[in-house]
Amino acid sequence: MKLSLYYPVYPHIVTDAWGVEDPRYERFGFTHHNGIDIAAPAGEAIHAPYAARVRQVSTGEDPRDLHITLLAPHAYEFPDTKCHVEITFMHVLLAIVLPGEQVAAGELIGFAGGNPLADYIHMAPKRVRAEGRQRFVDVDLNHASGTFDPLPYWNERYAQDLDSDGAKTLARLQRTLTNIERSLAEDVLS
Ligand SMILES: [Zn+2]
Repeated sequence: MKLSLYYPVYPHIVTDAWGVEDPRYERFGFTHHNGIDIAAPAGEAIHAPYAARVRQVSTGEDPRDLHITLLAPHAYEFPDTKCHVEITFMHVLLAIVLPGEQVAAGELIGFAGGNPLADYIHMAPKRVRAEGRQRFVDVDLNHASGTFDPLPYWNERYAQDLDSDGAKTLARLQRTLTNIERSLAEDVLS
């Protein structure tokens, strides 16, 4: 199976390409842009670009800046190797998926806006190889933190146009709202 990615945000406008050298990344331990930036104003929907399992939902340097990491369950064929693909989205304001959940290509996973200074999301695709049960190691060793350029893998279709499971998305949205209400209520009580 070859990797085929749907555009996760509509419209697909890349504001910063993959692999561009920038000394600002040095504090993160690499020198070249480790992904692409896709224009996405706060609140913009982010849809799964491929079928995957949610590996992690974590926070960045700023605890309000969420990261969603997806990992496809099967390996893809590349000209040089066969391996898994992990994709991390950063500058997410709200994630509606939880670790361990399966998402079909096209399903809503969250909303942009995690970084008030960024009107884009950062998408970092990585080729990884399984090493043991839950351990994955980078296939690519480069100056862009082991990521690769997704450009050759876009299928030029929008994930949001896929007929993905609306009932599942609605249930996830309701769960997310319930959790927010609960934490707000806890804040009031504490
Ligand atoms: Zn970026």
